[in-house]
Amino acid sequence: MSAIIMDGKALAMKIRDGVKAKCNLLLEKGITPCLAVILVGNDPASLSYVKGKEKALAEAGMKSRDIRLFADTQEAALLSIIADLNKDESTHGILVQLPLPHHINEGNVIKAINPEKDVDCFTPVSVGNMVLGRKGFLPCTPSGVLALLREYNIPIAGSHVVVVGRSNIVGRPLANLLTTKEYNATVTLCHTGTYDISFHTRQADIVIAATGMPSLITPGMIKENAVVIDVGINRVSDPSAKKGYRLCGDVDPAVEEKASFFSPVPGGIGPMTIAMLIRNVAEAAGNSLNK
Ligand code: NDP
Repeated sequence: MSAIIMDGKALAMKIRDGVKAKCNLLLEKGITPCLAVILVGNDPASLSYVKGKEKALAEAGMKSRDIRLFADTQEAALLSIIADLNKDESTHGILVQLPLPHHINEGNVIKAINPEKDVDCFTPVSVGNMVLGRKGFLPCTPSGVLALLREYNIPIAGSHVVVVGRSNIVGRPLANLLTTKEYNATVTLCHTGTYDISFHTRQADIVIAATGMPSLITPGMIKENAVVIDVGINRVSDPSAKKGYRLCGDVDPAVEEKASFFSPVPGGIGPMTIAMLIRNVAEAAGNSLNK
């Protein structure tokens, strides 16, 4: 039997409609939610992510301040731009598209963002708030995964969830959120130091892959009827495709035959991440009203 495909695109549109309604209320109060999007260099994948975010902001009636910087921009110059944005009352969120060029210290840049404008939960303060269960923005991709699981009424509490990948923006925060009382899952976090990943994934009720390794998770690595969430977005060369490449996830699409629910790439977590981002920007703008 084939898995039910989890339509992240449809849910994302629903969330985006809700955000648009919230934006209209803010507009009536004289506030236009605004996200500053900083891109250093011209990495094609980053450029395409940034364009997707800016399109979603415009569709929701929000503003984006596009700050495009040359690849050789110095760290001090970037920090100074962030300091100005932190002070600017008409900018409610700040997003620095990662990765940054190697000569810039990512940690310094992230730390410089005011946590009240840190709509993707990158700063140490935001991450600390999340881990301690305090108020603050939640990271967009992990919250997108959780929202999609909820939409399909997947039981999370009491489930064994195996997250493969421990990056600071996806795997680690996701594993952390899943272990909170709110979600009550039992979580195993796998990475390159894990001895036998399939030993863990085969026991999982829910497998979440966020590794950047195309088709790492194969049908033999999951149990029958597991729920499989594919976060990966990878460009693999494909001479038959118009652009010379195609997008694929971290999960072999053949998993669909064995899973009960499966989030595809594209159309799964990618659109959910953007929806969560614009939701956070609207919230940041709303928070600015209460100041
Ligand atoms: P990172 O490269 O930052 O982290 C990858 C993680 O996967 C690391 O923890 C690494 O382990 C682990 N890993 C890599 N290879 C293996 C392997 N063979 N076995 C086990 N673990 C492995 O990636 P991100 O978390 O930023 O992104 C992961 C994927 O998700 C990418 O394809 C990215 O494009 C996509 N992505 C998608 C988003 C969306 O909106 N859908 C948003 C963000 C990312 P170790 O720590 O040991 O090195």
